[in-house]
Amino acid sequence: MRFFEICEIYEKLEKISSKIGKTEILANLFKKAEGEELKKLVLLSTGQIFLPFENRELGIASKLVMRSISKASGFDLKNIEELYVKFGDLGKVAEYCIKNRKQKIFFKKELTVSEVYDKLREIGLYEGEGSQDRKISTLAGLLNFSNPLEARYLVRIVLDELRIGVAEGIIRDAIVMAFFKPSEKEKAQYYVDFAWNILGDFGEVAKIAKHEGIEGLKRVKPVLGRPIQVMLGIKAESIEEVIKRHGKVIAEFKYDGLRMQIHKQKDKVWIFTRRLEDVTKQFPDVVEIIRKNILADECIIEGEAWPIDINTKLPMPFQKLSQRIHRKYDIEKISKEIPVQLNLFDIIYLNGETFFETPLIKRREILKNIVKEEELKIQLAESIYSDNIKEIEEFYNRALSLKQEGIMLKNPQSFYIFGRHVGGWYKIKPIMETLDVVIVGAEYGEGSRSKWLSRYLFAVRDEDTGELLTCGMVSTGLTEEQFELMTEMLTPLIIKREGNFVWVKPKIVVEVSYQEIQKSPNYTSGYALRFPRIERIREDKSVNEIDTLKRLEELYKSQGKAG
Ligand code: AMP
Repeated sequence: MRFFEICEIYEKLEKISSKIGKTEILANLFKKAEGEELKKLVLLSTGQIFLPFENRELGIASKLVMRSISKASGFDLKNIEELYVKFGDLGKVAEYCIKNRKQKIFFKKELTVSEVYDKLREIGLYEGEGSQDRKISTLAGLLNFSNPLEARYLVRIVLDELRIGVAEGIIRDAIVMAFFKPSEKEKAQYYVDFAWNILGDFGEVAKIAKHEGIEGLKRVKPVLGRPIQVMLGIKAESIEEVIKRHGKVIAEFKYDGLRMQIHKQKDKVWIFTRRLEDVTKQFPDVVEIIRKNILADECIIEGEAWPIDINTKLPMPFQKLSQRIHRKYDIEKISKEIPVQLNLFDIIYLNGETFFETPLIKRREILKNIVKEEELKIQLAESIYSDNIKEIEEFYNRALSLKQEGIMLKNPQSFYIFGRHVGGWYKIKPIMETLDVVIVGAEYGEGSRSKWLSRYLFAVRDEDTGELLTCGMVSTGLTEEQFELMTEMLTPLIIKREGNFVWVKPKIVVEVSYQEIQKSPNYTSGYALRFPRIERIREDKSVNEIDTLKRLEELYKSQGKAG
């Protein structure tokens, strides 16, 4: 299939806003390919080249893209920079330069979907000396054979700026629409979701759906070394409410740390976060303890690791854990300075057997049998099994007095179901309405803060289109150390600078508290948070998990009622 075909689709998707319209367009496109090409087509249709757990990025900043455009088109760099200021979009610049190219091409070739996908992957794999030049020449090579529209989208893919309003739900529905009869719709949706949650790759899922149908999707099993989506809890109004509904529950501490999904295959260990990022390198101490204290050849288990102060046995501030997650050198040293305690609470897979449909109470037992607890280092999550409200309240107070976040109440009969669902896990924690938002822009401070990006423009997400909509700016809540860390994290994400302000790629998620939500024409969501404050940097959340426009609207309305 020609790459041009998918570019025409991008253009259409950009123009239409209806969810069903987008789904139909994509379904028709997916029908045209098969096998490996289908896989690449599906991934490219969301601009995805590497999957999150591959821990790879294309690593091409706008400067390199400009040099590639220059090389392919004959425009000089200065000229390209001027065009960038004029258009504000390097995709458009590439389109213009290729349309008006100053050098002749000696032979012509049409780009295919497979070729573009493979070359882009290649770019992300170049490492070490000379890798920048190789990236530029590979991208220039692609641009060289592009027509103007292809050039526009190639550059947007490379810069991760393909704004076509296609979120996961639409891709899922498009796969269902493309490969299943309308009468099978519900079942197909369920199993496409099931397979995606395990494999994390819509390309692979589409391929199985097309060639092996629902039975193929059902057969999908976890692969060691490839993270699966995690189960989460929903907020409960009260302990009573949960007991009334489920009777006896497993109450566990809700630890204030980092969710770890741990895969073990003999001596090989992988650690993934809830965002499915591989953090194995950052936690050699956890790897060691898993090798030593988990008595299984192969397994996938889950728990929460939190930074423990060995003297008081209480948690150190969460930012200590942030330091561990971001540290790239002296890892052994920092793992001694900031040790973590691992608290295990679930098992998904053991020696070839999966437990998605095994009740939690049984999973807990299986888990218990393979864990050798070791003081301060590894244990099963602190828990009680009860329907006595008083007892659970005491347990909750103990969790809070030990500076943990609260408790989880888990239905002992619940299966392992990805995401948040009624009937499974519930969280009980002190009430404070907060929103998880993503940072899309930032401002350099003044005076002593001038070297830091210290004021942040943040956004929620439109759940249908994936579009990010701004709802305020925040500059309070962080320590000096954290401003520095934020600046370090945001700088490589800068897309464009306008005076003191920079636009950044939406990657960093923060939890903000606020006093009130107001209607506001100043932000694209139509709302503004008044007196926002950053409560914490949510290392564990990805942009797909932030709060939605719908929730913002609900919170706005509910405060109206209260007032
Ligand atoms: P939230 O984002 O508030 O829904 O919290 C979900 C997170 O709580 C999970 O991703 C875990 O990292 C964390 N957590 C801490 N303790 C537990 C526990 N005992 N069971 C499940 N999740 C837990």
